[in-house]
This record gives sequence, structure tokens and C-alpha cells, in this order.
Amino acid sequence: MKNKRKSISAAEQVFAGMAVGTGVAIGVVHRHDSRASFHVREIRIPATKIRSEQHRVLEAAARASERIETLQAEAKRMAGAAGEEVGYILDAYHQMLSGSRLIRGVQKRIATDQVNAEAAVMKEIGLMAEAFATMDDSYLAARVDDIREVGRRLVESLTGKKNRALSALPRHAVIVADELSPADTAALDPGNVAGLVTLVGGVESHTAIVARSLGLPAVVAQDDILTQARNGQAIVVDGIKGIVILQPSSKTLATYRRRKAQLLREQKSLLKLTSIPAVTKDGVAIKLQANIELPSEIESVLAAGAEGVGLFRSEFMFMNRPDLPSEEEQFDVLSKVVRQMDGKPVTIRTLDVGADKLGAALGMKAGPNPALGLRAIRFSLRRKKIFLVQLSAILRASAYGPVRILLPMVSTVDEIREVRKILALLTARLKRRGVKLSDPLPPLGVMIEIPGAALAADALAAESDFFAIGTNDLTQYTLAIDRTDEQVAYLYNPLHPAVLRLIQFSAEAAAAAHIPVSVCGEIAGDDRLTPLLLGFGITELSMAGANLPRVKKRILSMNLSAISGRVRRITSESDPHRLKDLIAELSK
Ligand code: PEP
Ligand code: MG
Repeated sequence: MKNKRKSISAAEQVFAGMAVGTGVAIGVVHRHDSRASFHVREIRIPATKIRSEQHRVLEAAARASERIETLQAEAKRMAGAAGEEVGYILDAYHQMLSGSRLIRGVQKRIATDQVNAEAAVMKEIGLMAEAFATMDDSYLAARVDDIREVGRRLVESLTGKKNRALSALPRHAVIVADELSPADTAALDPGNVAGLVTLVGGVESHTAIVARSLGLPAVVAQDDILTQARNGQAIVVDGIKGIVILQPSSKTLATYRRRKAQLLREQKSLLKLTSIPAVTKDGVAIKLQANIELPSEIESVLAAGAEGVGLFRSEFMFMNRPDLPSEEEQFDVLSKVVRQMDGKPVTIRTLDVGADKLGAALGMKAGPNPALGLRAIRFSLRRKKIFLVQLSAILRASAYGPVRILLPMVSTVDEIREVRKILALLTARLKRRGVKLSDPLPPLGVMIEIPGAALAADALAAESDFFAIGTNDLTQYTLAIDRTDEQVAYLYNPLHPAVLRLIQFSAEAAAAAHIPVSVCGEIAGDDRLTPLLLGFGITELSMAGANLPRVKKRILSMNLSAISGRVRRITSESDPHRLKDLIAELSK
């Protein structure tokens, strides 16, 4: 569906898009350009100012170098492999900042183009990045991100300003952006953000997931809102209907204030359910857990009644920074989360980078088809030093409460076997060092999110301790629909018969192997689908905290034995339209 502006009145403008968050927001526009850090104003300077401008560059480079030296000192204190890895990248940054081709090039450009230092830096960086990107050497081509990072640091040092606009927002800000990267969303201050509106990203994009986990109303794919919205304008985001209203009339505002109040009342009544166990009318207990992206979510997911963390996406620790987190840093974060959960299980997923999730310090090269490339567990097994540091931190955190280790994007049993070998080595090493570990060691599970993994679920079940079915990627890969591409978002359908059959097949394989299985993709948080998933025999669901009470309400009203016949009909139905009707019928 191509989104069009629906109507224009004198002031009020209504835009249609895709709803990806929860609830509604009333706030003020805060525009964010994800590429803003590379946009600096070019100012012509007179010949008399050339020398002083060149001097500014040297001073700024010296300050940026000092900062890098501090980071280098920190890197030396990191555990062996990580320290080496980070130190190597920092050395390269340091070199680029001291009398290098970059600095000489900037000096020269100030003189020849007679432009301010900031603009000269951006020009030089642009040319160098272009030259590197076209090199045959894949390692050098992958250094483009490092060059840009050095450029950003230099401009920050010149202006004395950090270009991290999203960490300092006005109250009730509705961010209107072309795109929000996972790094952008990690930097958000949720206390001040009322809602999100982006041009790019499908319903299952990471922006959408973060919006849901922070309980933010969000709408994506707004074709022309960026050309219309101005900072400070009043805006309403209807994250239920998928519309955005710029400069709402007083009548619209009154309607939305009432709507917001009503949603709050509903939310409050649902919260009364948080301490009640999730058991169906016929006595089947369902384990309801939370997906988290950031440790700061723990408090709210516990308040929403989560019985554990079913999916802790660990990527945030690697985002938004030029270096890699040390084992100590990861251990601090993870052990704190485990302690905060106070005896409830925490499922930590190992690094799931690649495609839309790229960390600057990881030196990843985007292959020809990133979604099918060296990502997630494949990346970890290739870059073992990074993996070992993460696994050590997880193993050490497991001494503070029940932890499960979850591997993303597994496609073959060999990957699980290799991880088991690494874990055995690491455990022995940590024990030799006298480090406290959990006894027994954390269970090792796999995400079922590749169709091939689902079809080979029986083989994978024989090697793993639990399954977590990731329906977001499972849908993407089964239907060949890029989950972040709004152009094909209309085809993205986790209820496609093919996806449902793969879920059912995986659930059956887990049951036959007597291992626990959960669904942790976004459909787990849609209460209209709860009867269907439970009907497949799934008794563990992990979702954004905000969805827990609603799903629980559904479970409490269900009689599982009464729907088994209808679930069987659904699994044998192959027409997507009839299937949709049957599922709607089931959730009534
Ligand atoms: C999934 O793919 O369903 C999943 C839960 O993982 P992510 O959304 O982090 O890729
Ligand atoms: Mg996934």
C-alpha cells in the first residue's frame, strides 16, 4: 500500500501509514535526520583566515587524539582478546588523526577551497570513504565506517558539540525521522519521547520492535510528512489506526485526549492481572515472559507481570560506540539484569548483528546480501574473539541467577556442536581461574527463525536444550520479504500457511524431544493469536512487556480443550484468506 496524505484542512493534516507501536501520543514534532552527523555548514573564508582555520584543525585533531589515547588505555585493561581487537581499531583512529593523509588533506583543502575547517573535514572524509569503498581489498573497503567515525570525532572536536540529538529531547517529543537505526533508538531517552514517526521500516523492523518494547505509539512509512512537519508543531500519533495528524484541530485534540484517557483506564484494569498466574480455564499453565532490548526495561516488564526474560537482545551493548564492550562491561550489565530479575530466568541471546544491525566497531563488511550473509551466529563463529568475550561474560553472569544462552539464526547442528565445544573450553578456563559459575551450567537453546531450521527441527532438538521460535525472521525468510522494506510490507504475513506450518512443525519436534519451546517473535504479543499458538501446543510466550497483560487476559478466558478441533482445521487449511477467517473466528 502506498501511503497517501488523506486530507488537508486549513491547518490540520492527516497522514496514513502503518501502525507499529502501541497506543496514541499527543506531543510536539522533533525532526531527526539520521545522517545529520555528517551534515555541516560550509562557510567561505577569506584568505587571511586560512592559517587560523588550519590551526583549528590541528588543535581539534590533538583533542580527538587525546580522547582516543584515554580509550586506548581503557582497552589495555580489557580481557585479552577484546583488548587486542579494540586496541587495533583505536590505533588506526589515532594514526588517522596524527599528521596523516586526512589531516594534510584537510589543511590543503582549507587553503584551496577557502572553506571552514568543518566543511573541509567532511569533503576529505567523503573522498577518502569513496576511494576506500571501491577498493578490491574487502578488508580496506570495510574500513569506510572507521573513516567516517574519525571524521565525526574530528567535527565534534571542532564544534565542541556532540551530535547526539536524540539523547537530549524536549518533553513529549514525537520524533519525525527518515529512519531510526538501532543505534539511534538505543540513544533515546524514553522519558521524553511521546511517539515515533519514520519514513523507513516495516512492521517488524527493529525500530518497530523498540517502539513496542518502550511502549511508544509509532507509525512508519509516511511518504510526505518529513516535507511538512516543522519542529515544535503539535502532532498526534495514532499507533492503533496508523495515522499521524499534524497541527490537530481543537476538536481532534479533544477526541484524542479522551482516547488516551480511555486507553489508560484499560491499561490500569489490565495491570490488576499482573500478579495472577496465566492459566487457561481448563487448567493449562502458560509461561509469559518478556523480550527486552535494554536493561532499563526490566523494571517495567516486572511490573507488567513477566515471569522471566524470554529474549534479551544483547546487540545494544555493541551499538552507538566506536569500540567493543569489554568482558567486564558486559558482565556488569548482564549480572545486574540477572540480579534484578531475582530468581526469574533470563534468556540471553548472543550477538545478532548483520543486515539492519551493524555495529561500527565490529568491522563488519556488508556482503552482497546481508540478510543471507555473515550475520548472527555465523558472525560469532567467524569472529571468535568477540564471541568468547561475550560467552565468558554470560557464563560469569549465570552465577547470579538462572540464565539460558540462546543462539540466533542457527541453520545447522554443526553450529550448536561448535558452540558446545567453545563453552566447554571456556568453562574449564574460567574454573581454572577460580571464577564462580552456575551449577548446572546454563542451558543452550536455538532460535528457530530460518525455514531450513524449522524443517530440520527434529535434528536441532536433539542437540539443543530449548527452542525459541523467532517468527519475525521466520516470516521474512519463508516468504522472501525483507522485514525492513516498507515497499513489500503488505506481503509480510506471519499467518501465511507456510509460516504457520513451520511453527507447528517446530513445536511438535520440541515436544517429541521433550525440550521447552517458546514463541518470541512479535506475534507472541498479539492477543488475537494467543489461542492459535496455544493450540499448537506452545506453552511459553515471550513478548514486549506492554503486551503481557492483554495476552494474559486472553489466556484467562480461554478453554484450550474446546478449540483443538478448530486448530486442526486451521493447520490443514492452505488458502490464506479462509485461514484468516478461521483464525479470526478462533480468537472471538
Ligand atoms: C525474530 O526474528 O522473531 C526475533 C525474535 O528476533 P529479532 O526480531 O531480534 O530478529
Ligand atoms: Mg530474528
